[in-house]
Amino acid sequence: MWWDDPPPDAASFDALCAKSGGRVRAGESATTGGGRALFATAPVAKGEIVFRESPSLILQDPANRPLARACARCHSMLRGAPSETACAQGCGEGYCDERCRVAHVEQGSHGLLCVGPIDSWEHPLAALKLACARDDDGDGHLALIAEMCAWCIASAARRGDASSSSSSSGASTAVAAALDDANLRTYVAGAVWDWTGASGGDGARARCEAHARMIREAMASHEGSSEKLRGAEALMDPASGVVGARGVAELAGVLARNSLAVAVESSSASASAPASAPASAPGDASTSNASPRKLGARYEGVALFPLTCLMNHSCEPNAEVRFEDAGPGAGVVAAVHALREIRVGEELRHSYVDETRPVFLRAADLAAFGFRCDCGRCARARGGS
Ligand SMILES: [Zn+2]
Ligand SMILES: [Zn+2]
Ligand SMILES: [Zn+2]
Repeated sequence: MWWDDPPPDAASFDALCAKSGGRVRAGESATTGGGRALFATAPVAKGEIVFRESPSLILQDPANRPLARACARCHSMLRGAPSETACAQGCGEGYCDERCRVAHVEQGSHGLLCVGPIDSWEHPLAALKLACARDDDGDGHLALIAEMCAWCIASAARRGDASSSSSSSGASTAVAAALDDANLRTYVAGAVWDWTGASGGDGARARCEAHARMIREAMASHEGSSEKLRGAEALMDPASGVVGARGVAELAGVLARNSLAVAVESSSASASAPASAPASAPGDASTSNASPRKLGARYEGVALFPLTCLMNHSCEPNAEVRFEDAGPGAGVVAAVHALREIRVGEELRHSYVDETRPVFLRAADLAAFGFRCDCGRCARARGGS
């Protein structure tokens, strides 16, 4: 099965590293049992940006949407009037420009997840949207998992390669190709229900099964769904597809291990009210009764960044991740800053938790990530020296 494939090796990150400016490379960590890590390939001075990169996937926090109106594709803050480029189905999603709209609505996930034309909460797509908004037992990950599934399905349908899904190895290849297209394959590293962190364990299996069923029903509920899903049959398989219980568990595992909370301060957002959806439609309930946006609203969301997510944790980090709005079309990017001078070959590490907290509280925070920290500072604290 596709989830048994060995994860892409360090060399498969070379192109991304080059694209990010060529100052880092992926490799194996000397201290985390051969796990992956990111290393500097050039000296970096304190305060410099080591690299910037765009996310594989990013989603705005639903509660933040009324406060900070962002492009649904690249997540750059929308500064124009609410009449800027929008989804034609009236769901309330807005875009920087026509390119972002086409990439999201016509080629991307939104064509499979838009609830604009739907007028009943009973409809499987509206039910999925509601479940995403109420998802408090899955770390709020259901919306991200639905988004990941939809990007994979959209790419498989675009390839339209139905012939490759007739055999089980062909199906496995089709899923791997779709994950590649969606820039998600480098993260796949095991089902969330096998994970020891906060998201795994009891309840994870039932949650994944329920989420997979909900997403499959939503995807199959489209008018003319056979057309929309043609070529994506392998991905929709309840046993072996991305939208099966195990597939969803893999995607949930990706999020549990890699997702980063994103916050972008914005000092120049305008104060215009967001577009409101028709009152009777489930389309974008999160913005339909919004109050006008505050000046300087801060964008908040969750994202996966391929290189940034390779960085291991340290309680005495040499790097820090900050997020920037790179403007219309470019959108939200991660910028990794050097907190001190970094030598060639040194591993880049940032802190997954508030490293100013005492060692026993850091240990509790880090347990949610499924590991015990053995950085120099934790070792010194535990050794009493
Ligand atoms: Zn955009
Ligand atoms: Zn829409
Ligand atoms: Zn530590």
